[in-house]
Amino acid sequence: MIDPTAPHAAPARSDPADDEGERALRALFDPRRFASQGSATLELLASHLGAAASRALEPVMPREGPAALCEAFPARFPARGDGDVVAVMARALTASTSLHAPGFVGHQVATPLPDAALCELVAALANNGMAIFEMGPAASAMERAVLQWLSSRVGLPPTSGGVLTSGGSLGNLTALLAARQAKAGADVWRRGLRNGPQLVVFVAETAHYSVARAARILGLGDAGVVAVDVDAELRMKPDALAAAVAAARRRKHHPICAVASAGSTAAGALDPLEPIADVCAREGLWLHVDGAHGASLALSEKHRARLRGIERADSIVWDAHKLMLMPALVTAVLFRDAGAGAAAFAQEAGYLFDPRGDDDGDAWSDVGKRTVECTKRMMSLKLYACLQAHGTQLFADHVDACLARAQALASLVRARPRLELLVEPECNIVVFRVRGATNGKNAAIRKRVVADGRYYLVQVHRPEGLWLRTTLMNPLTTEGDLRGLLEEVEAAAVALDA
Ligand SMILES: *Cc1c(COP(=O)(O)O)cnc(C)c1O
Repeated sequence: MIDPTAPHAAPARSDPADDEGERALRALFDPRRFASQGSATLELLASHLGAAASRALEPVMPREGPAALCEAFPARFPARGDGDVVAVMARALTASTSLHAPGFVGHQVATPLPDAALCELVAALANNGMAIFEMGPAASAMERAVLQWLSSRVGLPPTSGGVLTSGGSLGNLTALLAARQAKAGADVWRRGLRNGPQLVVFVAETAHYSVARAARILGLGDAGVVAVDVDAELRMKPDALAAAVAAARRRKHHPICAVASAGSTAAGALDPLEPIADVCAREGLWLHVDGAHGASLALSEKHRARLRGIERADSIVWDAHKLMLMPALVTAVLFRDAGAGAAAFAQEAGYLFDPRGDDDGDAWSDVGKRTVECTKRMMSLKLYACLQAHGTQLFADHVDACLARAQALASLVRARPRLELLVEPECNIVVFRVRGATNGKNAAIRKRVVADGRYYLVQVHRPEGLWLRTTLMNPLTTEGDLRGLLEEVEAAAVALDA
């Protein structure tokens, strides 16, 4: 039967692109046009970097608030534009927080290597979608290579495997999914959670919120996430973990996984991985190490030992867009047993993955089998290319420098009696405040410093109150900047008293 809604074959039109709109579109693919827009874009970015270096980029965070920016970037678009995409990007850059300003010491987001940004451009233009090998041959091979290298850095065995994904939050979800599949005692992927015991994940209260969120996404609910006590240095107490597991078993709950943070979010505390791994081994729990921030310490000769025990993890999350200088996002999810990672997603998708294929489920080449994502960016390119082009020592040295900068800032804080540290920094996050000032006042101090424009720092709420928080991972920040920051903080405290 003929479907009357089906499009007919076009009558006598030789080329469907032979109309004005399509011709204009094709002109945008002209290599010469691309080259000229491209050099204008590079000029724009180069002058942005130059302005950062000469401190002309201030304020680090633009002063315009949400309302002003909605006006600057209205939801009105012309039917036909002037083609000047560089002008729009220039306005966006000006109104963006500048991570290359030496005074950027805020959130845990890398000041990206400019070379890595160039890789992003190539990844975007090539746009290989990665789900299957055929849609990302080079990207899949480079992904495998960086994963193998990262695995070996943290001491996982050659049977390990993994996947790159878009961020630590998605990485934690991916790892917990594998943990659930391995430890639930039933095929939860197929049967769902119905009628099964309450599954429980244990995590220190200082962990990143994405861990608790992932557990809830997995259907574990309120009772499925148990907060484990931390010590005075904000590190998970292994004894408290063991006690919490015992308490859960008494309630007839079913413990599946402990999540240790290697570099917890608030203050960068390193949970003691060795004794936590002992508890997990004794109790038959999956050990997930959330090393989104701190797994990079494994790159450093000097600091690697502080991750001792990470090699016993069943899964590890490691963000290269934190301490490895990469633009967001590129996260490695590493599995001690490559098969366990593949088992997390026992899905068939006949149109993508060949069910009769010769792979046995943990074959590396179709990465879409092992991620929440289907299409994803060629995120391996930037990391692979920078490791090849600049060598591994650059990254090791950067980790050392970041940790040294944190120690320098901590010493400067200690030398100023009006300031106090939350804890001695274990990695490159330094949390401090003006002693004796209320939470409101410390918040006002931060606001004032940020509004002054030379620095961008953040704040963190702890049971002990509100603290000012800095992450030292910007290679352009000098010790003079750190001194200047503390001077501004103290000056703001005085000004607010006046
Ligand atoms: C940053 C961070 C996350 C979240 O990672 P995203 O890449 O921002 O999604 C999770 N856990 C820890 C410990 C982190 O530092």
